[in-house]
Amino acid sequence: MKRLPSWAKKTLGPASKLHEMKSILRKRNLHTVCESARCPNIGECFSKPTATFMILGDVCTRTCGFCSIEKKADPLLVDPHEPANIALTAKELGLKHVVITSVTRDDLPNGGADQFALTIKAIKDNISDILVEVLTPDFEGDQEALKIVLDARPDIFNHNLETVPSLYSVVRPQADYQRSLDVLGRAKQAGVMTKSGIMVGLGETKEEVKEVLRDLLASGCDAVTIGQYLRPTRNNLEVREYVEPEVFKEYEEYGKAIGLKYVYSGPFVRSSYNAEQLINGK
Ligand code: SF4
Repeated sequence: MKRLPSWAKKTLGPASKLHEMKSILRKRNLHTVCESARCPNIGECFSKPTATFMILGDVCTRTCGFCSIEKKADPLLVDPHEPANIALTAKELGLKHVVITSVTRDDLPNGGADQFALTIKAIKDNISDILVEVLTPDFEGDQEALKIVLDARPDIFNHNLETVPSLYSVVRPQADYQRSLDVLGRAKQAGVMTKSGIMVGLGETKEEVKEVLRDLLASGCDAVTIGQYLRPTRNNLEVREYVEPEVFKEYEEYGKAIGLKYVYSGPFVRSSYNAEQLINGK
């Protein structure tokens, strides 16, 4: 197993803030991808406070090799109170930018797109000047499902490619690279700001990463995040490489040079980490 280099180490931050946020979330039976995916930025984000709310339960129907979220063929029942509870919590925390993601629910009609739409609506009905970013699954390419989410007018539509096409069979076996690019392309055609992200350190080459950046540009993507893959549990894929900070810089410069508006690239960059920066044009 590879040794963790200094630049890939991060402290958790003040336990009190972490605890405070977790009790608010549990009180309302809410999940976050921050907790389920064991994100290294959780201390920093929960202290702000900010969080990425995860809807449709915390059990997924897919088996991505990098992800520590529980997987089962029969996940949790959809919580009808979830949209209102998220709106209430976002208001209580004074959030200006809220990110909504979900596990993938291939077992549900339209993959749970209705719950995304209801959650966007509940937030926008209860909080005036808030920006809503959704980080969605691919809805198995179901265009009607995608339309339900887009018609709810999220401010940012995010869908991660996660890795390069040659690694899909091990990293995200139930997904399809071209299908994910098409999801982003359709969201762009609907006039929403689009965003996507990948992890590096799973065995990809530099040229493969640059090809993904070119494909994202071609799909009209506005913003891209590139972060270091960190192994969440022993059941997950091994880290093949701790990518050097200079290489992250190279990806950032290359992305901007080919015309991507926003490129966030660094070991701890995650799809919704510092998401509010995007809106502030940073
Ligand atoms: S689709 Fe993959 S990454 Fe997303 S929650 Fe399910 S297993 Fe994790």
